[in-house]
Amino acid sequence: SAYHRVLEENRKLYNQVQDLKGSIRVYCRVRPFLGSQANTITSVEHIDEGDITINTLSKNGKGRKSFRFNKVFEPNASQEDVFADTKPLIRSALDGYNVCIFAYGQTGSGKTYTMTGPSVLTEQNQGVNYRALQDLFLLAEQRKDMFHYDISVQMMEIYNEQVRDLLVMDGSNKRLDIRNSSLSGLNVPDANLIPVTSTSDVIYLMNLGHKNRAVGSTALNDRSSRSHSCLTVHIHGRELTSGTVLRGCMHLVDLAGSERVDKSEVTGDRLKEAQHINRSLSALGDVIASLAQKNPHVPYRNSKLTQLLQDSLGGQAKTLMFVHISPEFDAVSETISTLKFAERVASVDLGAAKINK
Ligand code: ADP
Repeated sequence: SAYHRVLEENRKLYNQVQDLKGSIRVYCRVRPFLGSQANTITSVEHIDEGDITINTLSKNGKGRKSFRFNKVFEPNASQEDVFADTKPLIRSALDGYNVCIFAYGQTGSGKTYTMTGPSVLTEQNQGVNYRALQDLFLLAEQRKDMFHYDISVQMMEIYNEQVRDLLVMDGSNKRLDIRNSSLSGLNVPDANLIPVTSTSDVIYLMNLGHKNRAVGSTALNDRSSRSHSCLTVHIHGRELTSGTVLRGCMHLVDLAGSERVDKSEVTGDRLKEAQHINRSLSALGDVIASLAQKNPHVPYRNSKLTQLLQDSLGGQAKTLMFVHISPEFDAVSETISTLKFAERVASVDLGAAKINK
């Protein structure tokens, strides 16, 4: 019966969620070649479930390097495929867990495609952000005889170690403070918190955030690749019979481009931006690595990014990192450094992930 199907589905999800608790999953996604690149040489030699082998062919001869992750998505993986593996994590936010999903990689490797899709307004190929909220609405509706859920969102940008609200109507550029307010669950209390009840609300807000991101920059692409953007979903659930309250929070983060900048080639603002990005991405790597190693001191305070996400990294929280690589051979050195970063982040948990398989 339909009832048993729902029970069975819930049991499966419950098991998947238990597997994810406190762990860090790392998925690698390889971007396809874009339109005019049909005859370009690739660095990606082989992909097999969780394994990827990169051809590091150099002037000196042939070399290979292999990496192992929880999963590797081939260039032809669809947005649906990618979301299907993300779903259990997202659903656990409705059960009161904190969740963090990151997109990491060099500029042009497909981070925004994964999180947002090809554009904010197109109906097709929507990214994780839209699908996550759509799925939360659906599940909240299915549970409406047992729970009442309120879902609201914030959208922020971190640029040069300053946090800005992206959901402002007047284009204002106010800097925000991060506070530790465990009572409300809002660690950026001054950023607008907007209730959402439908996917059209979500589209409207994503579009507003996208427009605000362009403020103060000459070219949107430049700016968006040099700042981190974060869509934070706050979930407040109340069980109807007992009145028990559940709070879940989900951060969906499109990170700044991870490419190394040649210090001899940039100066001034560009150099400052590059240094801020470098520092915050390594702070993120340090936090995740020290959580994985169960170090008593986790260096959250080293960057705005890790402060913002503090409640959702470590402890009972669940973390997923999508590591993006470009397939072109020209990008091979960035690809290797991206995969090394990801390997460091993934290292300790891969053992556990294998056992769960
Ligand atoms: P990033 O956010 O890492 O800078 P983008 O997401 O903007 O990169 O991707 C760069 C370009 O490649 C965009 O035109 C995007 O639409 C396209 N692209 C990225 N990933 C895919 C994919 N999986 N399938 C089709 N096109 C993609």
